[in-house]
Amino acid sequence: MTVPAFQRHDHAACIDSAVAAAAAACAARGLQFTEIRRRVLEILLAEHRALGAYDILEQLRAEGRGAQPPVAYRALDFLVKHGFAHRIERLNAFAACAHPGVDHAPAFLICRSCSAVAEAEAGPERALGAVAAAQGFTIEQTVVEAEGLCPNCTPEAQA
Ligand SMILES: [Zn+2]
Ligand SMILES: [Zn+2]
Ligand SMILES: [Zn+2]
Repeated sequence: MTVPAFQRHDHAACIDSAVAAAAAACAARGLQFTEIRRRVLEILLAEHRALGAYDILEQLRAEGRGAQPPVAYRALDFLVKHGFAHRIERLNAFAACAHPGVDHAPAFLICRSCSAVAEAEAGPERALGAVAAAQGFTIEQTVVEAEGLCPNCTPEAQA
């Protein structure tokens, strides 16, 4: 399922299901879904927007958690390593995964105006995979980041 990041949707349910999916995946894989890891994921899920590590740290501090940078960074590392969040290279930021627990190469649609981020279910890595196979090339990682304007930032949509 692709989260309709740019459209109006039941966002509370969206957060709940993503946190529940992460909790279930952690339980199934014997991973510790600690309080701080859960909270960092919730912060990433709060808006469909990429957040820098520093933004997350600030948020934790605003909540009076007095989190030290390594704590926030380790929680982020954990979320990325296990596929609950992705690193968005172009923005040097992080976004919660739209379909955790599913093995996939993420593809992102990034709004250059408001930094809203949508994760596409299937990226062009399928086409790349065919080219790679024909060339005897083994792809280890594909990063797909498309930049443009989301519907909320497209002038015609606001008229
Ligand atoms: Zn949502
Ligand atoms: Zn993902
Ligand atoms: Zn936008």
